[in-house]
Amino acid sequence: MELLDKLTILADAAKYDVACTSCGVNRQAVKGQLGSATSAGICHTFSADGRCVTLLKVLLSNVCSYDCAYCVNRRSNDIPRATFSARELAELTIGFYRRNYIEGLFLSSGILKNPDYTTERMCEAIHILREDYGFRGYIHAKAIPGTSEELLVRLGVLVDRMSLNIEFPSEKSLKLLAPEKAGESALRPMAFVRDGIKANYQDKRLSTVRRTRFVPAGQSTQMIVGASPESDYHILKLSASLYQRLELQRVFFSAYIPINSNPLLPATSEVSLLREHRLYQADWLMRFYEFDVDEIIDEEHPFLDPLIDPKCNWALNHIDQFPVEVNRVPYEMLLRIPGIGVRGAKRVVCARRERSLRFEDLKRLNITLKRAKYFITCNGKFADGVLFDPLSIYRELTRQAKGRRFKGVLDGQLSLFDEKSEPAPTSAFSLPASVLSSPTSVLPAALASASAKPAAQPATLPPAQTPILARRAS
Ligand code: SF4
Repeated sequence: MELLDKLTILADAAKYDVACTSCGVNRQAVKGQLGSATSAGICHTFSADGRCVTLLKVLLSNVCSYDCAYCVNRRSNDIPRATFSARELAELTIGFYRRNYIEGLFLSSGILKNPDYTTERMCEAIHILREDYGFRGYIHAKAIPGTSEELLVRLGVLVDRMSLNIEFPSEKSLKLLAPEKAGESALRPMAFVRDGIKANYQDKRLSTVRRTRFVPAGQSTQMIVGASPESDYHILKLSASLYQRLELQRVFFSAYIPINSNPLLPATSEVSLLREHRLYQADWLMRFYEFDVDEIIDEEHPFLDPLIDPKCNWALNHIDQFPVEVNRVPYEMLLRIPGIGVRGAKRVVCARRERSLRFEDLKRLNITLKRAKYFITCNGKFADGVLFDPLSIYRELTRQAKGRRFKGVLDGQLSLFDEKSEPAPTSAFSLPASVLSSPTSVLPAALASASAKPAAQPATLPPAQTPILARRAS
């Protein structure tokens, strides 16, 4: 098989892996203009120092001895198969690098024979890249649960970032949809990688270079959303535990894409990207805005509202804490105002030292007033036309969502305005009087318990939400 054919197959097979920041677009080269992009093979990520780098995203092989129900590469699928030799992959990567197409490599693989055999092939290819070609660019490798610790160390010193896919938010779903993977939980090797990273940093006898050598950009994981019944609450609880206990850099969410037909998989034609997007927003709140999961979502309303982002949702549920005077409110509270990000909050703090801020000043500081204006005052005054009433604010904030973006919500997904009779997942927003009571707190004692917890099923809407829904539906 020609190298280009292998690349076409293996780059296309890798597109379902989302443990990078974005995937490529398909844009052909045009005479007289510079550059082109192809849908298969190129993705972007952020390196440890914050730079955005372009990666060749590819599988070493799409031959797999496992038969995961949801995966295009499973052994029972009749698809063209290909495997790179270690040198082919190394030469291809270095060739692309020299042509300036890419700055690094994102390498994953189907399971050839067993996890150790596959990891050895991956190590071989990366070793050729690093040693024979002196490649010092970014490499992200997917490790396979079940790989021996010795090989994890070998891989860890060759790559910048390593990820182990947890795949599903619960052990039960993993057993059902990927039974061969279920025997080898990703949590144990993740803990091993975490300890390896710490040990490297803590061994002061090593030179600085060597101290940061083992997985210097940290580890990440990926969860498929929507192929199994776990709620957003369950997914976010697990993510929080992964950040706290296993010190992950990122948890990636991948909206389930139906590729195979299998009675175990949901009948829905597609899972909304909006659900994935809301999970990323909630994840962002936890990582950068010091929100606790239970502030974003609770067990009684286990799904994020598709119509407004989780920060707006929190603000509406805590409307008694608003409006805040932007010239006096502490930095921590500035961070909680919808439309004000970390950078915006810092700019506000700096700017208000000089003088009292007005709404025009906030615009100049790049604050998203479209959302922020409902929750703040400047020198004791609201922005023109703002009516400080939670229901009106909710209507305003959700008005745009009825347009283009909301069309992305497909069958089986949450729709507050849908008149279908099947039960819909609940929104976390309810009228202030009912939500100001503290939410039920069910903290998983350990990762294992979070994984093993039965999925919360969609509940019926609480009475407090009915008036909003009734008005919107009519
Ligand atoms: S082990 Fe990975 S590549 Fe193989 S079938 Fe399962 S998900 Fe697909």
